[in-house]
Amino acid sequence: MLRIGLTGGIGAGKSTVSAALEAKGAVLVDADRVAREVVEPGTPGLAALVERFGDGILRADGALDRPALAAVAFANDESRAALNAITHPLVGARTQEIVDAAPSDAIVVQDIPLLVEGAMAPLFHVVVVVFTDEAERVRRLVELRGMPEADARARIAAQATDEQRRAVADVWLDNSGAPGALDDTISALWAERLVPFAENVRDGVVVRPRVELVGADPSWPAQAERLIARLRVLSGAAALRIDHIGSTAVPGLDAKDVLDIQITVADLDAADALAAPLAAGGFPRVDTVNADDPKPAYQGGETDPALWAKRLHGNADPGRPANVHIRVDGWPAQQFALVMRDWLRSDDAARDEYLQVKRRAAAAAAEYGSYDAAIAAYLDVKEPWFDRAFHRAHEWARETGWTATSS
Ligand code: ADP
Repeated sequence: MLRIGLTGGIGAGKSTVSAALEAKGAVLVDADRVAREVVEPGTPGLAALVERFGDGILRADGALDRPALAAVAFANDESRAALNAITHPLVGARTQEIVDAAPSDAIVVQDIPLLVEGAMAPLFHVVVVVFTDEAERVRRLVELRGMPEADARARIAAQATDEQRRAVADVWLDNSGAPGALDDTISALWAERLVPFAENVRDGVVVRPRVELVGADPSWPAQAERLIARLRVLSGAAALRIDHIGSTAVPGLDAKDVLDIQITVADLDAADALAAPLAAGGFPRVDTVNADDPKPAYQGGETDPALWAKRLHGNADPGRPANVHIRVDGWPAQQFALVMRDWLRSDDAARDEYLQVKRRAAAAAAEYGSYDAAIAAYLDVKEPWFDRAFHRAHEWARETGWTATSS
């Protein structure tokens, strides 16, 4: 099952987009609809509200009088909290029921107006944000939904900002244009990203990056943060720390368009216990890779090959290749990933040198068609430089008193 969180400011066009996705075959869960359902006449939800706020919140026909409830419940923080304590668990439970009832291969779209305000983004495989600029939203709310302009502006002001929504958006749909202008974009999102993503999750298939360098993308760190937020939820207490590592974590460095993320765990059993939850969450395991290339010990001599074991996962999302390395706290490759990143961030000459090596590696990889052959050729060129970089980065760490604290 693939779970999509759909959000956007009031009047941006969420209902319009979610209806389009439902028409493609998505199972739609509308948070506003669920919120109304759990307080319909005869429900325990409505009974609880009456018990707390009195029967002045009921209309003559026994249904909830929303303006009357708002008047008493929004009077102060305490009554607002009481309202939420009654309704939120009911909405959560009913939502879970609908999701559980969906077929296992379903693409479930949850339309949640307050997804950002509720910090729910990491709970979804993909977050889709529908954006329309504010002036146009006010116009639509006033002209099409008959809302007084002052109400429209007050509702917008009480919600999250566009920047806050942008920070969690895996997909940003600009619905400022004419009705229907987004149809092709939504069709492509469905057919080229969501459907293959769902199939990849079902089959445990990881999306491979192209083995070629692209210019440094300033949005890589923010993209990594979104994946890290999901990985935190999926890993729970097993993750001692999760870091954005590799070239995409070094500002200004050209790289393959694949985000490297490291989950640090206490031992390999903890890494193996993450296999199933990460796979269900969109990060299937790559079981052909179970170790890093051992490097000579920093202080000279060999290191224990067993200490180079790791687990590797990737991303099933066709829109965002990633390598998720699960490594054991304090083992050499776990430390090296952090030292190397921080050394390259701080040393311009080392970064330039590394870039030249990467360019040669990419040129070597360009001779091959398959991912496996291309990545092998790429690593063949890169690894000898890495063997020396291992030593140099540790030297830098010793000289600067580096410790693995930054993320
Ligand atoms: P939301 O669910 O985000 O509050 P809606 O989907 O209800 O927003 O859209 C708000 C209003 O704007 C509705 O009346 C809808 O029909 C209309 N609308 C949606 N998209 C467009 C568009 N691209 N151009 C003009 N009106 C639109």
